[in-house]
Amino acid sequence: MEFAQHLSDHRVSEQERTKILQNPGFGNFFTDHTAVIDWSADAGWHNARVEPYGPISLDPAASVLHYGQEVFEGLKAYRHEDGSVRTFRPGKNGERINASARRLALPELPVEHFVEAVRQLVAVDQDWVPSGDGEALYLRPFMIATEAFLGVRPAREVSFRVIASPAGNYFGGELHAVPIWLSQNFARAGHGGTGEAKCGGNYAASLAAQMEAEAHGCPQVLFLDPTDDFSVEELGGMNVFFVLEGGTLVTPRLNGNILHGITRDSVLQLAREMDLTVEERKFTLDEWREAVANGTLKEAFACGTAAVITPIAELRSAEGTMVLPETTSDSVWGSIRAKLLGVQRGTVEDTHGWLTR
Ligand code: PMP
Repeated sequence: MEFAQHLSDHRVSEQERTKILQNPGFGNFFTDHTAVIDWSADAGWHNARVEPYGPISLDPAASVLHYGQEVFEGLKAYRHEDGSVRTFRPGKNGERINASARRLALPELPVEHFVEAVRQLVAVDQDWVPSGDGEALYLRPFMIATEAFLGVRPAREVSFRVIASPAGNYFGGELHAVPIWLSQNFARAGHGGTGEAKCGGNYAASLAAQMEAEAHGCPQVLFLDPTDDFSVEELGGMNVFFVLEGGTLVTPRLNGNILHGITRDSVLQLAREMDLTVEERKFTLDEWREAVANGTLKEAFACGTAAVITPIAELRSAEGTMVLPETTSDSVWGSIRAKLLGVQRGTVEDTHGWLTR
């Protein structure tokens, strides 16, 4: 697929960009361009282009605004020491956006077009890829239903876009263990619902729980499945792992409710290669509490593109706080994190072919 290039003079001055890159935070600033591909039921995918970043014009009746027919992705581009820029497993994000698209009755975009759109944008805006420790260019591909039509049916006009935002540490400051809030008033997903799709509605539905978490000093919220013995599902934007005595790594199985995290998949692969016992299974809140009480729980950590791997300090809830063992980077989470970050930053050999230039 050929991408037409309608490039702008830089929207943001070089001086301003340099200032932004000194302290990008997360999701606050956007690069000079966006990659776009349109779709219609008649013409299929067409009009691929890179154009200046800016507001998009949408009919007020566009179905995304009414029925939330939308899916998105998140991945990062890293700057290596030699100055080159690599993205981490972009094909996996391409496959996942299509799985989400099928659930939301949106058209599938061939994975090679997805990866090419990302490549085009990163190439044009490569000056925006930061090089500091823990920093990367966060890429946000998304697909929206643009057809102006108020009937409830799949839209016949859709637009796919990629935008990019320089990113630092998701939780701010140095890496530290974070407290997590246990959501008991809200569930994130239900069986047969959209839990494993990456669609905007899931995140809108998680905000009330997220606000509750923040009111209790927690940057993330943990969701359980109340219909399945209160088994652990995931955090608002991350998957979770537990390390049990004897080096067993446990993570909730993919039950249709949780996101198929690409970091989760990478952690599982690295853990198997490190000869850890890996279990993808049901893990209930009761089992977690018991393992803390009898000392067999050694670590708990969260993982995702934005936050990489972050240890969990404690689980807070209306009933009180469960404090988890203190850990150091000399632990299972620390060694997996070092390996994963090393591959992403180009300091550890990419034996899996996870990086795309
Ligand atoms: N769960 C949810 C709900 C998420 O939003 C994310 C972030 N995409 C993850 C898990 C982690 O997925 P990934 O490792 O692919 O970023």
